[in-house]
Amino acid sequence: TEEDLAELEWQEGAPKPADRPTPPVLAIVGRPNVGKSTLINRILGKRVAVVQDTPGVTRDRVRYEASWNGRDFTVVDTGGWEVKVEGLDLSVARQAEVAINEADAVLFVVDATVGVTSTDEEVVKLLRSSGKPVILVANKVDSQIQEADAAYLWALGLGEPVAVSALHGRASGDLLDRVMAILPEHSQTGGRGFDLGNRRVALVGRPNVGKSSLLNRLAGEDRVVVNEVAGTTRDPVDEFIELDGEAWTFVDTAGIRRRVHQTSGADFYASLRTQNAIEKADLGLVLLDASEPLTEQDVRVIQQVVDAGRSLVIIANKWDLVDVDRQKEFNRELERELVQLSWAQRVNLSALTGWHTNRLSSAMNVAYENWHRRITTAKLNNFLGELASAHPHPVRGGKQPRILFATQPSACPPRFVIFTTGFIDHGYRRFIENRLREAFDFTGTPIEISVRVRE
Ligand code: GDP
Ligand code: GDP
Repeated sequence: TEEDLAELEWQEGAPKPADRPTPPVLAIVGRPNVGKSTLINRILGKRVAVVQDTPGVTRDRVRYEASWNGRDFTVVDTGGWEVKVEGLDLSVARQAEVAINEADAVLFVVDATVGVTSTDEEVVKLLRSSGKPVILVANKVDSQIQEADAAYLWALGLGEPVAVSALHGRASGDLLDRVMAILPEHSQTGGRGFDLGNRRVALVGRPNVGKSSLLNRLAGEDRVVVNEVAGTTRDPVDEFIELDGEAWTFVDTAGIRRRVHQTSGADFYASLRTQNAIEKADLGLVLLDASEPLTEQDVRVIQQVVDAGRSLVIIANKWDLVDVDRQKEFNRELERELVQLSWAQRVNLSALTGWHTNRLSSAMNVAYENWHRRITTAKLNNFLGELASAHPHPVRGGKQPRILFATQPSACPPRFVIFTTGFIDHGYRRFIENRLREAFDFTGTPIEISVRVRE
């Protein structure tokens, strides 16, 4: 038993997901229309951020994973930043302020063709007081002749302006080299709530259940464009979405946004992609189309999440199409097919109308937090001791296995090891699981129980 405990303790020392170092964070700030989104698209090498000519359109912070010369970093896109403005713009300004606080470095973008405005000067003050390394970017320098335009930006006191053309890609490689030079290896800010890379979620489900509709709905439709560049192969893209103040990384969303053509073998690749996404995530959000009969494929995707040991939330989408009869039928289908999964929370919603999409984040948080739950050895043994004396294991072949000791060596998902004097029935194991779930909150997470027999 000592050996076992040593092994268990070692596992306990293994890094928890929450301890993972996160890539450094680069915030892009500047007034509206200076070309921030264009620059981000340039940095990402793909068109994902919305470029618009109308200034002042409210945007939340959006995060993208980027890399340059083999180093990963996170880009935070802030809305425009107007200082001393009222209403909506003010919230955009606050977003930018928060983004700066949580960034490891800042790209301050100025439109070289417009020059320095009083807003820019206010922004400079805030940037200085933040103490963060800043690179001053003079954008829209489309040709060498215009470079002289950028020179007066020295006056901002942020050092040498880097003249680029986000639109044409002029000097963007040079800019990225400079960025890499000031970014630390890992994020130093590590602020909770914006601690990215931690809450990772895979949005999965068979084709047409509404994944891309829901993703757009959660991200804010106006902010994210589905963009088809013919013939380009794109890497999986992670998207950062804040839901009720909690930041989530939606992994591998490129496959969701891309309209996948149904060619032969597509199913195979779709299921592979699902598997990959689930493995990168802490939480699986499985979408079902409630307006249609539950399919084998639906059940398989849910099973994939459980088998991978990830937390789970089931979403019944297209609830706007569900009448009372269908509701009853759907509930029956779930009860029949998902007997062992009564621990998973289900959220009925409509990605199309937005009905109840605001209920999603609390179910996600519950599942995620319970997935991390740890029960102390003392509590666990008290609980099991009482349980076993009230409901001892049935006698089998003249023997009655006894529980000696139990411990939870790891979380994510919670894993329990029970030491016994003999083989434990499947039914009794299930009984223990159910009672554990009643005593401690494991809503939304699978739990594993393994038994080790000691003579
Ligand atoms: P944001 O509001 O700061 O995100 O600005 P956008 O990226 O949406 O760009 C605003 C406008 O400036 C768009 O019409 C872009 O096409 C244009 N723009 C962006 N970068 C450049 C550039 O380097 N040169 C020129 N000429 N126009 C640019
Ligand atoms: P995906 O293949 O899982 O990404 O599914 P899509 O998001 O592309 O949605 C497939 C179809 O279902 C589209 O025609 C959507 O408009 C529609 N759809 C998605 N969500 C809903 C919903 O909540 N209600 C209704 N009525 N239709 C929806």
